[in-house]
Amino acid sequence: MKLVIAQMKHETNTYSPVPTPLARFATGAAVPPEGAAAVAAYRGTGSALGAFIELAEEAGAEYTVPIAASAWPSGPVHDAAFEHIAGRICDAVAQGCDAVLLDLHGAMVTQTFDDGEGELLRRVRAIVGPKVPIGVALDMHTNLYDAMGANATAIAGYQTYPHIDMHATGLRAGRAVLAQLAGKAKPTMAWGRNAMLPHVMRQGSADSPNRELQARCQQMEAEGALCASLFVGFPNADIRDAGLSAVVVTDNDPALARRWCDELLALAWEQREKFVYRIEPLAESMRRAQALAATKPAAGGPIVLLDHSDNCASGGTMDTMTVLGAILDAGLEDVAAFAIYDPAAVQQMVRAGVGADITLSLGGKLDMPAIGLKGQPRTVSGRVRFLSDGRYRNRGPMARGEQGDMGPSAVLDTGRVQIVVISDHVEPHDLAAFTAVGIAPETKRFVMLKSRVHWRAGLGSLAQAVVECAGTGVCTSDYDLLAFKKVRRPIYPLDAAAAK
Ligand SMILES: [Zn+2]
Repeated sequence: MKLVIAQMKHETNTYSPVPTPLARFATGAAVPPEGAAAVAAYRGTGSALGAFIELAEEAGAEYTVPIAASAWPSGPVHDAAFEHIAGRICDAVAQGCDAVLLDLHGAMVTQTFDDGEGELLRRVRAIVGPKVPIGVALDMHTNLYDAMGANATAIAGYQTYPHIDMHATGLRAGRAVLAQLAGKAKPTMAWGRNAMLPHVMRQGSADSPNRELQARCQQMEAEGALCASLFVGFPNADIRDAGLSAVVVTDNDPALARRWCDELLALAWEQREKFVYRIEPLAESMRRAQALAATKPAAGGPIVLLDHSDNCASGGTMDTMTVLGAILDAGLEDVAAFAIYDPAAVQQMVRAGVGADITLSLGGKLDMPAIGLKGQPRTVSGRVRFLSDGRYRNRGPMARGEQGDMGPSAVLDTGRVQIVVISDHVEPHDLAAFTAVGIAPETKRFVMLKSRVHWRAGLGSLAQAVVECAGTGVCTSDYDLLAFKKVRRPIYPLDAAAAK
C-alpha cells in the first residue's frame, strides 16, 4: 500500500494587504519542507498531517510527503506559490499511489482561483482517476465549494474552535480512507451550504449555537457516520461560496448522508441570530476595563483586552495601533500587549540594545486599501526590556509540538505597558510565545491580545475577565466596513430578506 500525504494550508482574507508568497508557507526558510524534512517537522505533532503519518506507519504503508506547506492567514496566495505547492503534490501523485491524504484549510483563495482547495483536488483527481480515495482534513473555517466535495472521497473538519482537535480530525479523515482500502467501508458523502455568514466572534465551540452543532456532529459519528462536520465558514473573504456549510460521510448510505447533512444545515439556520455579533464601541470597552480593574482582585489573573479586529490568524496586519493607543491614553497599568508586527522597529531596538531608552514610530506601517484605511503609526517611548530570536515550540493544546517563529522580537517597556514587537506574524494562542520574550502573562493586570477565539486554547484559563475591544483592521466584525461584491446574495445577516 502506497500513500501520498501532503499539506497545503492557508486561510485567505481577501481584504488583507499582507502578501502571500511561497516563503510565507515556509516558517523562516525559503521554501516549505519536503520529503524527510517534512516528516521530521510534523511527525508526532498535534496536526492532521502528523495524524496521517501516524496512520500510515501503523498500517505499515509505504508513504511519501512531497511537501508540508502552512502559512498564517493573509491576502490571496500568489499564483507562483500555489503552483509550486500543488505541483509538488501532483508530481508525487503521478508516481502512482493507492490513496491520497491531504491536510488542507478549506478557505484558500489564490490570485487566480477563488476556490484554491477545489482547484487542487480537481487536479489530483484528474491524475488518480475515480477509484483512488482522497481523504481531506479541513479547518472549521472552510468555505466549501462543490469542487471540494465532488473530488474528495472523505472530508473531515475540525469540531473545535479554538482548534484543538486537528490531530483527531486527521484520524477521522484518514481512517475513512484506510477502511475503504481494506475493503471494510465504502464512504459516501453529502454536502451543502446555508446562505449565512456567521460572525467569527460568535463561532467559538464553547458557545451556543456552535457547541450544540458540533455536539450533534459527534453524535452522528457515534451513530455510524464515518465523518460529520459543520463548517462555520470564514466571512472575511469576498468569494461566492463563503459561509456556513456541512459535510457528512456515511458507510455506503448516501440517503443517510444527505439526511444528516440537511439536519445540520437546518439546525444552524434555526440558530442564525445567535451567530450575529454585537460590537461594543471602543470607548465603552475601555471604561469597562477600568471598572473591572477597580473591582477584580489583583491576584486573580489578568483581564484580557481582545483586539479582535486585527488578528493575524484571520489575515490581520497585526500592526494597527487603535486598541493599544486607547490603552496608553487610558493610562492602564501593568499591561502586556501581544503583539505589534513591526520588523523595522525591532531592528531599531536591537541596535539600541537591552536597557536603552528609545522613542519609536510604532506599528501602522501597512495600509489597508480594501477597507479604505491608511496605516497609522504611533510615537511610543520606552526602554528596551528584552530581545529574542522569536522561536519557540508550542506546548499546546493547539498545534502542540509545532515550531512557532515570530522572527526577531523585542519588548518595549513604557513603564505601564510592555509591548511585544515581532517580525513575523503569530497569533498568541500558546504560552510559549510569551515565555520566548520573558513575559509571564498570568502575573499581569491586563493582557492585550491580537486574537479572536484561539487565544483561549493556551491562555483562556488564566483570564479572570475578557473585554472585547473593537479596534481597526481587516478582521473587523463590522460587515458594513467590508465591500461584499462576489458573495452570493441574498445572504444572512447582510440581507434582511436572506433566503435559505
Ligand atoms: Zn480556523
